[in-house]
Amino acid sequence: MIFGSGVLRSMLITLKNFFTSYFKGPEEGGIFTVEYPETRLPEKERFRNFPFLVYDRNPENLRCVACDICAKECPPKCIYIVREFDKEGRPLKRPAVFDIDFTVCMNCGICEEACPFDAIYMDHEFEIAGPERQSRLLYHKDDLLKSNEYFHKIRPTDATAIDQQRREAEEKKKAAAEAAAKAKQPD
Ligand code: SF4
Ligand code: SF4
Repeated sequence: MIFGSGVLRSMLITLKNFFTSYFKGPEEGGIFTVEYPETRLPEKERFRNFPFLVYDRNPENLRCVACDICAKECPPKCIYIVREFDKEGRPLKRPAVFDIDFTVCMNCGICEEACPFDAIYMDHEFEIAGPERQSRLLYHKDDLLKSNEYFHKIRPTDATAIDQQRREAEEKKKAAAEAAAKAKQPD
């Protein structure tokens, strides 16, 4: 082997990449850097940053039932939930308060995995920095709410599969209720 051939080979690769970068974009293996924020690479579907709460049709139909499972499972305990009560003091299946402290959240996605009601998912949004740390990064229920359409836009594969599962579960429930009602009817 010629002394220094490795160095020469690596210099040739560098030279090749230098010229290729003028003709090919990052997606084609050319330039490796993008001029953010003017240019952005599309995020992968499973890219995750902070969680959001999903609602169907309108924000009144949020899926969260305030079961508190995500708050219990969250490793740094940055989710705070208070259940809503009606005028008679009966508990409702929805949160009055749902806060997440994004200064503490470690983007692990455990809340998404733990939720049995398909109500909380990891978002792609990451440009949330601001001049005031406490008020800017403590997200309340209204800040966390996002539509199922938004979920479809950022994570179409997961959102479609979950819609299908929810539809099937709903149909099963309906069929069981109809069967029970039929069984109760006198012959
Ligand atoms: S997001 Fe899911 S796990 Fe968390 S309180 Fe709501 S329903 Fe329960
Ligand atoms: S992503 Fe992890 S740390 Fe953040 S709220 Fe969910 S469970 Fe907690």
